[in-house]
Amino acid sequence: MTYVYDDQNIFAKILRGEIPNKTVLETEHTLVFEDIRPQAPIHVLVIPKGPYVTYDHFAAEASDAEIVDFNRAVGAVCQTLGVTADIGEGCRFISNAGEHGVQEVPHYHLHILGGRRLGRMLEKAAG
Ligand code: 5GP
Repeated sequence: MTYVYDDQNIFAKILRGEIPNKTVLETEHTLVFEDIRPQAPIHVLVIPKGPYVTYDHFAAEASDAEIVDFNRAVGAVCQTLGVTADIGEGCRFISNAGEHGVQEVPHYHLHILGGRRLGRMLEKAAG
């Protein structure tokens, strides 16, 4: 595969400490921080520290340790934020990829949105 990672993207700058962020959780391979333009009462972004462009890139090329760390961070932060679907009221996980996915920042990130009922996904086709 030939994904090209742009190390000048905004999340790479956050990882290098060049831009501040509101960190929710940091682990060996993963950073979780608040989205700067929240679209729900709870809106955080989970990113791997490695240079991956999209979910498919991460899933194909990240190490097992990175993938486990990322997913465990998602589980931990959902507990912390109280958005698990068992004792909490649930949330939505979104990862936009590439042009059709309307991805703004070309560093893989998982949005976790919650704190209110979010409505159905993809209600309109406009993009
Ligand atoms: P995408 O459209 O790529 O899935 O989402 C990118 C997200 O990154 C958007 O929700 C946007 O608000 C967020 N974002 C963009 N720049 C910054 C930034 O400098 N800091 C933080 N915390 N979030 C950002």
